[in-house]
Amino acid sequence: MLRTHTCGELNINNLGQTVTLCGWVQKSRDLGGTTFIDVRDRYGLTQLVLNIDTDASLRETSRTLGREFVIKVSGTVIERTNKNTKIPTGEIEIAVESIEVLNSSKVPPFMIEDETDGGEELRAKYRYLDLRRNPIRNNLVLRHKMAQEVRKYLDMLDFIEVETPVLIKSTPEGARDFVVPSRMNPGEFYALPQSPQTFKQLLMVSGFDRYFQIVKCFRDEDLRADRQPEFTQIDCEMAFITQEDILNIFEGLTRHLFKALKGIEFNDFPRMQYADAMRLYGSDKPDIRFGMQFVELNDIVKGKGLGIFDSAELVVGINAKGCADYTRKQIDELTEWLKRPQIGATGMIYCRYNTDGTLKSSVDKFYSEDDLTNWAAAFEAEPGDLILVLAGNADKARKQLNELRLEMGNRLGLRDKNIYAPLWVLDFPLLEFDEESGRYHAMHHPFTSPKPEDIALLDTNPGDVRANAYDLVINGTEIGGGSIRIHDRALQALMFKHLGFTAEEAQKQFGFLMDAFEYGAPPHGGIAFGFDRLCSIFAGLDSIRDVIAFPKNNSGRDVMIDSPSTIADTQLKELKIKTAL
Ligand code: ASP
Repeated sequence: MLRTHTCGELNINNLGQTVTLCGWVQKSRDLGGTTFIDVRDRYGLTQLVLNIDTDASLRETSRTLGREFVIKVSGTVIERTNKNTKIPTGEIEIAVESIEVLNSSKVPPFMIEDETDGGEELRAKYRYLDLRRNPIRNNLVLRHKMAQEVRKYLDMLDFIEVETPVLIKSTPEGARDFVVPSRMNPGEFYALPQSPQTFKQLLMVSGFDRYFQIVKCFRDEDLRADRQPEFTQIDCEMAFITQEDILNIFEGLTRHLFKALKGIEFNDFPRMQYADAMRLYGSDKPDIRFGMQFVELNDIVKGKGLGIFDSAELVVGINAKGCADYTRKQIDELTEWLKRPQIGATGMIYCRYNTDGTLKSSVDKFYSEDDLTNWAAAFEAEPGDLILVLAGNADKARKQLNELRLEMGNRLGLRDKNIYAPLWVLDFPLLEFDEESGRYHAMHHPFTSPKPEDIALLDTNPGDVRANAYDLVINGTEIGGGSIRIHDRALQALMFKHLGFTAEEAQKQFGFLMDAFEYGAPPHGGIAFGFDRLCSIFAGLDSIRDVIAFPKNNSGRDVMIDSPSTIADTQLKELKIKTAL
C-alpha cells in the first residue's frame, strides 16, 4: 500500500512514528519559512508542516501544490503547539520529510467544504467532487451501514436474498413503465420493474418462504424531492404468515435499524386505521410527532345562515395552540398560502380565543359568543389558541387542512427532525376511484387481497372494500407498504375483472402468475421499504437525493453524464425503431 495510515487516525499516541499518508490537499498556508498543508481523505484531515526554509526540494514541490492535488507525504508525527480540539487528529501534525505529487488538479468549480459555495446544478455536474464533501460522504456511509444492518437482521430470521430480473414485463405499481427495446425481438419491449412484485410472489410459489432483496426499481412519474426515476427498495415476501407476523417482523427491522444506527429505542409502534388517519389528519401518512387533530364541526356550525358552511359537505378545523396573537396580516398571509393552486382552498375561517377569555371569529355576524364557546369546547381550546376552519367537499377540505396542519406544525416547531414518530396505517381501501379514467384502480397493486369479509362488496360497493394492506409511516413520510396477497387463481381473475381487464388481457399480461397459482401457491404477503427515504430520514434530510451517490435532477436527467441522450441512427436501425421526431 502507498500509505501507512489514513488521514483520520493519527493522534497523540503516535508521537515520534514515521508515517506515510496519501490524500487531497484541502488547503495550504504559507507562513514565511513554514508551510502548513491540510491533507484529506475519506477518514479525516491531518495537518502537515513543511520546513521550506531548510529544504529546497520541499520548497519547490510545496509551491506547485494547489487545492485538490493528490499527494503522498512521509514524515514524523509531532505534537502540535496550536491544538485543534474539534478533530480527532487535532493534537498532532506531521513534520514532512518528503512529498510526492501523485496527481495535479484543476481548481475545483466549488469549495470542497462542509458548507460549499457551489449551487445545486454545478454540484450535480461535478458530483464526483461533491461526493468528496463530508456531509455527502457521511450520508453514503450511513446508507452502507443501514444496508448491512438490514441484511444482518433479515439473514438472522432466515430470509434469503434473491436477485430478480431487470428486463421484465410490466408490473403495475401505479406509475408508467420505463421500457427497453429488444433488438432480437424487433418491435417488442421489455419493461423495467416498478417493483419485483410478481417475481417475489413466484418465489413463494417456489417454496422460498422468506425472501428479501435490496433492489432498484424504476417508475416513470413526475419527480419531487422525495422521488427519483430509479430508487431502491428493501423488498420482502413471506409465506405462511398473517398480517400480524409481517407487522411484527418489519417493526422489528425498523427498531433494529434505529437501535443500531441511532441508539434510539421505541415502544410498540402505534397503529391506526386508514379511515381514522383520513378523518383525524386528512392524510394516509399522518405526522404524529404532534397532535392538532382535525375536529369536524358540521353538527355545531350548520343552520346559522353562513352559506359556505351550510352548503359544505364538511366543515373541519384545527386548533393552533398559542396562536391567538396572530395578526390580521399573518392570518391573511396564511389564507393566501392556502389559496395557492397547489392547495386550492377558497378561503379560511378563524376564531381567536383571546387570552382575556373573549372569543372573536371572522364570521361573528353569524355566530354568537355562545356559539363560539361551543366551537372552543369542540377543539378543547384554551385562552391563547387560534381555531382555523375550512369547509367544502369532504376529501378536498381534508387534504387542504392536512397541508395547513403540517404548515402550522412547522411554524410552531413541532416537527423536530431528531424526534421520530413511527406509525402503522392499516386497512387501506382495496380500490380507489380515478376521476380521469372513470374507473376503479387498485390502491396498492392488483395482487393485494381484499379482506375476506368484504369480498361480497366488490360488486355492490367497490369503494368500501378494505384490503389487508398496511403502510409504515415515519414523521409523515411513507416508508413502506405491503399487503397480504391473493394466492388463488379465481380471486385474482375476479380482481382483474374489477380493475377493467378483459379475461384475455389479464391472461396475456399476468397469465404466468395466475397459472402459477394453480400449482400449490401458499398463502403469502410482504412489504417493501423505500430504502432511499429511510436513509434520508435517518440522515435528517428532506430530499432523498443526497443519500444517492449519483441521483437525477427534477427533470430525470443526470447532468454529469448527460443522460438521457439521443442514440445513433445505426442503433435505432438495429432496434428497428423509426426516428419519429
Ligand atoms: N410491491 C409493493 C411496492 O412496491 C410493495 C409490496 O406490496 O410488497 O410498493
